[in-house]
Amino acid sequence: MAASCDFDVAIVGAGPAGSTAAADLASAGARVAVFERERFPRDKVCGEFLSGEVAESLGPLLTGLGARRIAGGSWNPAHGRPFHLALPRPAWGLSRLALDAALYQRALALGAVFHLGCAVESVSREAGNWRLTTKASICPASDPAGHASTLPPSVSASASVSRAAAPGGHHITARHLLLACGRWWRLRGLPIANAAVPGPHSLSLGVKLRVSDLPAQETVDMFSFRGGYVGVAPVEHGWVNVCGLVAPAAYGKGRNLLAWLVNSVPHPALRERLAQARLATPAVFTAPVSIQAMRPLLFVDGHPVVLAGDAAGFIDPFTGSGISRAILGARLAAQALLSQEEAALHDYNARMIAATGSGFHCASLLRPLLSAPVPLQRCAGHLLRLPGLSASLVRHTRWQDHGGR
Ligand SMILES: Cc1cc2nc3c(=O)[nH]c(=O)nc-3n(C[C@H](O)[C@H](O)[C@H](O)COP(=O)(O)OP(=O)(O)OC[C@H]3O[C@@H](n4cnc5c(N)ncnc54)[C@H](O)[C@@H]3O)c2cc1C
Repeated sequence: MAASCDFDVAIVGAGPAGSTAAADLASAGARVAVFERERFPRDKVCGEFLSGEVAESLGPLLTGLGARRIAGGSWNPAHGRPFHLALPRPAWGLSRLALDAALYQRALALGAVFHLGCAVESVSREAGNWRLTTKASICPASDPAGHASTLPPSVSASASVSRAAAPGGHHITARHLLLACGRWWRLRGLPIANAAVPGPHSLSLGVKLRVSDLPAQETVDMFSFRGGYVGVAPVEHGWVNVCGLVAPAAYGKGRNLLAWLVNSVPHPALRERLAQARLATPAVFTAPVSIQAMRPLLFVDGHPVVLAGDAAGFIDPFTGSGISRAILGARLAAQALLSQEEAALHDYNARMIAATGSGFHCASLLRPLLSAPVPLQRCAGHLLRLPGLSASLVRHTRWQDHGGR
């Protein structure tokens, strides 16, 4: 039998997946500890396109934060005519600065205990529980705006349970472990990891900036060119997000990203679109970006570890479905953990694979086109203009959960 522990669930990572699971678990009365190595607000390389399926889960938070509605889109190859992308339902544009901080604050207000600036270094088993060790001392966060903590006293009390471990380490114990630490992770003590290896295609550098002074548009517009692609979509404050994947060799090092997009990328329509743009927030980069198959549940010495969001699998960013997958998947993970049955965890695993399977499949069909020779891209462009084809592809890259057992 397991000994008593500090928390019911320990979550590693407070991106959309970790904070969403924390909110659902805490609101159902579970004692939840979340570890996040960064502090909010923090930026991320992301197109900041929130696919429509997630709108219900985010509710008034979207409009409250000034998210911009996105009614449709277009794909604009450098060679050939653009084609329209129909969205199955309206999407939203919202910066990760605002979204991730708001999800964190929502979970904090519901009673989850957050440890910010506190990376988990290792995980082990101790007397039937998980034991998480950090280098930084474990000290719960209060509201980042400096207001008094809204944690109920019982949770605040358990939050202060942080024992110094071996020299330099601090630890807590928890009955369940949820990994929501993004697409790269490696934790000492777990015999598996998501390694940062480049995928089979060469577009492995993620780039992002936000610009201002562009005419308002309610669309997400993708521009593909030799050496990469970027999407252009509105977010709050009148900003426009410009984000995509490029070949490191095409971009080179130490360049000014906006100047490169306007002056060096061989795409006249993109150049025209961004010609008047002014940089609103600093450019951010991430590499390597690689696709990872779904693995939402694993066992370590017979003990289940639940994975959510990118930690469970990473789909091509051009699908614009990663955040909704992270949020909706994390809600399923929370439900499964609350049920306390191992069968529910297996059901979670099956639902995650089913909900994302067609997305992975469609993305793998489209991915080679991005770096294909121009004549092939032209042919594909003609095909994708067939009535209903691009709409059907977009629909199949969305989250498709049809319920469990
Ligand atoms: C170029 C690019 C463009 C994209 N565009 C879009 C888009 O437009 N729309 C969309 O829906 N998706 C997009 N995505 C995907 C989207 O960014 C991810 O799917 C989403 O961030 C997943 O959320 P998450 O919570 O799983 O992980 P993350 O957002 O990565 O959060 C994980 C968190 O874990 C923390 N962490 C990691 N290790 C530790 C540790 N050891 N201890 C403590 N904390 C830790 C990290 O600091 C991080 O905050 C894009 C991705 C890329 C690369």
